[in-house]
Amino acid sequence: MTNLQQPQDWTVEDSADLYGIREWGAGYFDLTEDGNAAVTVEINGKTITVAIMDIVQGMQDRGMEMPCILRIENLLDFRITELNEAFAAAIELVGYQNHYRGVFPIKVNQQCHVVEEIANFGSRYNHGLEAGSKAELIIALSQLTDHESLIICNGYKDAEFIELGLYARQIGIRCFFVLETPTELPIIIERSKALGIEPLIGVRLRLSTTVDGHWKDDSGDRSIFGLSTSALLDVVDELKKHDMLHCLQLLHSHLGSQIPNIRNVRTGVAEVCRFYCGLVKEGAPMGYLDLGGGLAVDYEGSSSNSTHSMNYQLDEYCVNIVETVAEAMNSEEVAHPVLVSESGRATVAYSSMLLFNILDVRNQTPAPIPAEINEDSPEVLHSLFALKGTINIDNFQECYNDSIYYRDEVRELFHRGHATLRDRALAENINLSVLGDIAKLLPEMTRIPSELENLPELLSDIYYGNFSLFQSLPDVWAIDQLFPIMPIHRLNEEPTRQATIADITCDCDGKIDKFSLPTGHANTLPLHEIKKDEEYYMGVFLVGAYQETLGDLHNLFGDTNVVSVKIEEEDGGYNFQREFEGDSISDVLSYVEYNPTTMQEQFRKKAEAAVRDGKITVAMRKQMMKAFRESLQGYTYFER
Ligand SMILES: *Cc1c(COP(=O)(O)O)cnc(C)c1O
Repeated sequence: MTNLQQPQDWTVEDSADLYGIREWGAGYFDLTEDGNAAVTVEINGKTITVAIMDIVQGMQDRGMEMPCILRIENLLDFRITELNEAFAAAIELVGYQNHYRGVFPIKVNQQCHVVEEIANFGSRYNHGLEAGSKAELIIALSQLTDHESLIICNGYKDAEFIELGLYARQIGIRCFFVLETPTELPIIIERSKALGIEPLIGVRLRLSTTVDGHWKDDSGDRSIFGLSTSALLDVVDELKKHDMLHCLQLLHSHLGSQIPNIRNVRTGVAEVCRFYCGLVKEGAPMGYLDLGGGLAVDYEGSSSNSTHSMNYQLDEYCVNIVETVAEAMNSEEVAHPVLVSESGRATVAYSSMLLFNILDVRNQTPAPIPAEINEDSPEVLHSLFALKGTINIDNFQECYNDSIYYRDEVRELFHRGHATLRDRALAENINLSVLGDIAKLLPEMTRIPSELENLPELLSDIYYGNFSLFQSLPDVWAIDQLFPIMPIHRLNEEPTRQATIADITCDCDGKIDKFSLPTGHANTLPLHEIKKDEEYYMGVFLVGAYQETLGDLHNLFGDTNVVSVKIEEEDGGYNFQREFEGDSISDVLSYVEYNPTTMQEQFRKKAEAAVRDGKITVAMRKQMMKAFRESLQGYTYFER
């Protein structure tokens, strides 16, 4: 509607502009000349482009069905490199007198191969791990190979948690306990005395700085985490009393996730620094300043301070932090601490995408309307029919009102038994066609009446995707997160449809109807007409952070297949490093405590009884049992 170009004029450049892939893609995603979305990586100074469809083809050849999470290991490695190099550059630039140590918060993506890759690749930068629970501490203890890297333990810690961390200390691992509440301290003191192992202690601060973005209300004084100023001093006094103040070496703060506004970062860091210096003056040795997470991802590609974007670049973020800390320390003549940050989202978001195929489309195009209608049809249907072909820029408002009115009248007649099913279908069809004609006039209207504002949305298609929003994109449902989403092929063709996307759970919340496009937020996404006998594939990008483990088993759709690919060669060759089959139906049933073997037995009994009663043959029974068994082994999603 907004694009008056002929289809043959459409180029991949138009698609790039339409979907904004170069903006949110941050150099990692682009389009190929032949119309495919692609991953771009740099290997030995050469830019390599791999079409995602190529990988999809490879997946299918290996029997991997849609939906699927595709992980590009190179992007994970790049992000760790970029984060560490950006801090190193800022430290160099500012003349900061200490180094940076990143830690990856495991909660952001706990998948074994992701944490393994981070531990592996991160070891060259001594990149450590942050653990928020006993299970995550166990992951950190088993995955980290390098004793220079840090393990930061946040979250509530019981005696078992603390013992585990103390043993880690004993073998030389730099494992910090960060106090979330004052009640943790007595357990740490008691356990460390009992085992004769000195802990490394950090304190988590509750800042008064608030941040913009989704977690605005949870920041500042109402933050549920961290110690108040007076609780902080109680900790200092208690440690002094036990002659353990020398164990207090780290100050921790976490302003919130996805901080879109750089000003908030600066203000927060400045506030933490004051506390850090205060603790040094109290006699604590300190040495580490941990600024938590919050480094944002520009999901929109708008470079703005809106919730799903960020108004700064990575190097700017690092320079801001390093500069602020240096200034604060210099003015109080305090030695520069080791800078620690816990970037999760910014580290892993880019590396994963969700791929799915479209199963069906509900088209809002009206069926052809007959040239004339039955003489004895209801009067209002005739009136509605007469509207056809009369709509223009001067009378559209009146036509709109009439059309809706007549359609409702026919519905009313139908309810009272005075109109037939066919009358009603025709009325709805004509109304739809009138609305379609009015929608075509929208670009010409000087002012769009409010009731017509969502006309395009009303007339848009619904594309049914083979995925579960609740399993694979839980934040879209829970916090209205916007992810970049687009077709991954046919991008040299003009997308002529406007659509919202529904998943295959039968839940009306299982839909995506908010999109961020370079032209602004929209309720529909331009998509291509589906071709008969040809799959249409879409990708949801930047989903590596938080989505996988927050997902749930709504309607018993389980984990999707996961493929992890590494692009290795300058000619664009890549390896399927790992493949993980998603949950089978039998898997998801056992998660909710069913026993698939028992279920099979229960079904067998029913089939046997049917044989006895002569309802089915033995041969049919055999077939039925085979189908039942195979279903249990099958994928929970739609299989072609
Ligand atoms: C969640 C969390 C993080 C990760 O935050 P991102 O914004 O994803 O980088 C870091 N530290 C703590 C304490 C967290 O709870």
